[in-house]
Amino acid sequence: MTDTDDIFVTGLRNAHAMEHQALSIMKPQVARIEQYPEVAHRLQLHITETENQIQRLEQLLDGFGENKSILKDAALSLSGAMAAIAHTAAPDEIVKNSFANYAFEHFEIAAYKSLIALSGQAGNSAATGLLTQNLNEELAMAQWLDQNIETITLKYASLRQSGESAKK
Ligand code: MG
Ligand code: FE
Repeated sequence: MTDTDDIFVTGLRNAHAMEHQALSIMKPQVARIEQYPEVAHRLQLHITETENQIQRLEQLLDGFGENKSILKDAALSLSGAMAAIAHTAAPDEIVKNSFANYAFEHFEIAAYKSLIALSGQAGNSAATGLLTQNLNEELAMAQWLDQNIETITLKYASLRQSGESAKK
């Protein structure tokens, strides 16, 4: 394996771990939401997308002879800058999770842009195609969060104002 291949495969493995981390952040959030069905719906959609993203990454890693048991280790041993942030104790849990999700989506966007630069330079158009699908889903999720942070915040404030349950 060339150095460039090695850099690319390491990046794919890190992305694979990152996507497992994404699931571990989003799934508990969805399970807790009560008052914000629109957020739960978008998260559920992105969970499904993320499961497909993992499949695409595994398809690419298979092409480099990377086996699943090694991938599992990488996913479990990830200690990331973007560790799952627990906001369950916060009164404005839904709002704080929106900030964290916005940050996480941008971390993913950067990771895929980096991988696409490598696959593009290597002339690996199959990989570029699959990674671009992942990138586009992250961009769409980031855009949704960008467009909904004000609405979520004001709904939280409004529920609080009227004495209703608001935190999640
Ligand atoms: Mg993702
Ligand atoms: Fe994402």
